[in-house]
Amino acid sequence: MYLIKKIIKKVLPKSLLYSYYKYNSYKKNNAHVGTGVECTICKSQFKYFQAYGLVKRQNARCFTCGSLERHRLLWTYFEEELDFLRKGTKIKMLHFAPEKMFYNHFDNMQNVAYIPCDLNPEEYNYAGNTKTMKVDITKIPFKDETFDFIICSHVLEHIPDDKLAMSELFRVMKKGGTGIFQVPIDYNNEDTYEDFSITTPEGREKAFGQNDHVRLYGRDYKDRLNAVGFKVKEDDYVLKFSKKELKMYGFIPSELIYNCTK
Ligand SMILES: [Zn+2]
Repeated sequence: MYLIKKIIKKVLPKSLLYSYYKYNSYKKNNAHVGTGVECTICKSQFKYFQAYGLVKRQNARCFTCGSLERHRLLWTYFEEELDFLRKGTKIKMLHFAPEKMFYNHFDNMQNVAYIPCDLNPEEYNYAGNTKTMKVDITKIPFKDETFDFIICSHVLEHIPDDKLAMSELFRVMKKGGTGIFQVPIDYNNEDTYEDFSITTPEGREKAFGQNDHVRLYGRDYKDRLNAVGFKVKEDDYVLKFSKKELKMYGFIPSELIYNCTK
């Protein structure tokens, strides 16, 4: 390829060379243009989703809103399965580590009293009506039974005392409330793998799969949530979709949704 490029450079006049490069960069930047896949959040269509991840996953990331497989699945679940969202019921909602593509929707919903929050709110400084609030998940600054709906996705694997965090989530949830609490899980392991002597980024990446994770959850994840009082439904909602739909929306067919109620 290098040789071909070298020859082309030599034989083509400058003006044609410019067109050649322009065409190539157009081709490269627009290779994903098409209608094979559709983002369930921003409704953009492409030939495929962008490959993404430490170990690259094909058909993963939306070129427009940046959603990954899990975001698109959750959003579809919210719209189809959570009655209070579907019906526009008035709710009070707490959202940890607020994903931008969700924030944009919730921030604009008249029926949702929305509180996005994080320990580092400056990382979630979005242009919207609602400012992200500083909240330590192990010491949530709200009264008991405040929220109807809580989203906390891919947060607990970063928290050393996850039991305390879970009990705080339980405390601030109203009776009859719902929480969606996703974490990365290795379903090959019965037990969650924790070793608090591993503290370096390299060590954590090797042991837990990412340099800022403090554990790798196993199949006992739901037991941990149960232990603080939640009723946990491991929802295999994703199985409702055909093979063709899984590919079209870029869902991961093994992804369970942790629907926790009080
Ligand atoms: Zn999108």
